[in-house]
Amino acid sequence: MLNKIYGLLAAVLIIAIAITGLTAVRVISVYHNQRTESQLMTAARMLQQYLNEAMPVSQAAERTLQVYEEDAAMLRLTIVNVDGTVLYDNTTDPVLMDNHKYRPEIAHAISIQGSGTSVRRSTTVADDMLYLAIYDPQNELVIRTALPLTAHRAGTRELYITIFAVLIVALVLLVAISLFTANIISRPLQKLKQASRLLAEGQYESRVPEMHLDDGEVAALSKTFNQMAHQLQETIAELEDKNVRLDAMLNAIISPMLAVDQSLAVRFMNAPARQLFGRDLDPEKAVYPLLLITHQTAAEELARSSMDNRLPQSAEMDLQTVDGKQLYQVTVSPFTSSRSEGAMISFFNVSQARKLQKMRSDFVSNVTHELRTPLTSIRGFIETLKNGAINNPDVAERFLDIIDIEADRLHSLISDILTLSEIEELVNETDHETFDLNDLIEDVAVLLDEAASEKKVKLRLPDTEKPLQVYANRHRIKQVLINLTDNAIKYNRQQGLVEISAERSDDKTVKIQIRDNGYGIPREYQDRIFERFYRVDSSRSRELGGTGLGLSIVKHIAQLYGGSASVESEPGKGSVFTVILKI
Ligand code: ADP
Repeated sequence: MLNKIYGLLAAVLIIAIAITGLTAVRVISVYHNQRTESQLMTAARMLQQYLNEAMPVSQAAERTLQVYEEDAAMLRLTIVNVDGTVLYDNTTDPVLMDNHKYRPEIAHAISIQGSGTSVRRSTTVADDMLYLAIYDPQNELVIRTALPLTAHRAGTRELYITIFAVLIVALVLLVAISLFTANIISRPLQKLKQASRLLAEGQYESRVPEMHLDDGEVAALSKTFNQMAHQLQETIAELEDKNVRLDAMLNAIISPMLAVDQSLAVRFMNAPARQLFGRDLDPEKAVYPLLLITHQTAAEELARSSMDNRLPQSAEMDLQTVDGKQLYQVTVSPFTSSRSEGAMISFFNVSQARKLQKMRSDFVSNVTHELRTPLTSIRGFIETLKNGAINNPDVAERFLDIIDIEADRLHSLISDILTLSEIEELVNETDHETFDLNDLIEDVAVLLDEAASEKKVKLRLPDTEKPLQVYANRHRIKQVLINLTDNAIKYNRQQGLVEISAERSDDKTVKIQIRDNGYGIPREYQDRIFERFYRVDSSRSRELGGTGLGLSIVKHIAQLYGGSASVESEPGKGSVFTVILKI
């Protein structure tokens, strides 16, 4: 911009100086020619007068030349006959001179019988000359005077050189001034430009330095610029802060969440979502379709439908996660902002909830089934008795025994169910006391002695003389020992062996092992026998009065005491049940 202004100024300057110079040259030339012409006219008239006074030509010329002392050397006097014959010339021998009839000034003077002028190069004296010729009617002659223009031409050339020099000086001055002013004007503007560029590149702290400010408009502009930059910096910082807070909040939400734009490209994933899908995306750098994350077209369809209807929608679907396929409740909440449309999608794992739900309903149907079996049997026998069997004392007694056994089983079942639900609901065990575990083992052995003797199973106990002090709910630990020892006897062969051991592994942990050499448990059932109502051989278990809940109770008590229950077994050889308890 400034360059254009300076170019224009230079052009105006050149034109102004050129016009002034040329006009001056022209005016001076005209003035000089007029002066020379008047000199020449005076000389010509003087010569004419002398001639008219009948003075001889050469004398008249000399007298005339005397008047022009200074210019005598330069003044040329020529007297020409009307036929063009040169009669006299003060610079050249007239004999050597050609006919002058057609010299323009002479021809003109003759033709108008007055005067004529001409500027041209003299062939005779080889110089630029101004010629003036007057017609002398008295003598019928033409008197011609001439002066060289050499001096004038030299003056004009000098004038041209001066004009040129002035032009150069003016231009140099203009360049110097323009450089100086450009510096003054453009430096703050350059600073502004630089600061704006930095601002555009995201360096919001860039400002125009105060030292470049003056009181003019640039100062006001710079001040406004600085205010604008400050405002921008504040706004950006505020936005960044908001973004960071929003990011932190979204990442702090435990549920995996992601945001999609209108084309279902994922624009944001919070930390739990990145973890769930095992993807660390940078949506700023690439576009990730929702399908790539969820591997579920149903998720895409749900998001599309929710955005189309502008209503939150949710559905359950199996998603491919880092932990394999999992059932998730996917909820899409569409949003609209001034600049974009999209949806937030949140994921809630319902696998566990569904599993629990299924376990609960399985349990209910199992309980119903387990209760119905002895009840049906009891009702059947009562019916038979009522229908007459009561009159047969032998049959009646056998039936009443069966009813008694079934009622017992019903009782055990209900009491096991109650124990199980009681333990399940317990968060912290209460009623702790310090007691000797070996003592308790002995008590249990006494309790089960009858059952063992019936099968001639030998019970081997730890050295009961050596006390093993523990701190726990005695009743629960007794339950563990009864359930495991009872199983070891039940599922043992005649004259089998059951060995109970208990030892402290460290300050807080006690390991109890019940070993038998009974039927054993096939490998494939070993993990499942701790499940509720799971039996390897249902009819044998029922026959032996089992409820299918004994091991489940053991496992829950072990977990309640921060431990575990496990089995090692070989079919035909026997089993070892190990319970670890922090007591
Ligand atoms: P139950 O009341 O049927 O004994 P449990 O939960 O105590 O129920 O045991 C589950 C199943 O585990 C039993 O039905 C039985 O098949 C198997 N089992 C438990 N203890 C032993 C053992 N010591 N030897 C062989 N099988 C056993």
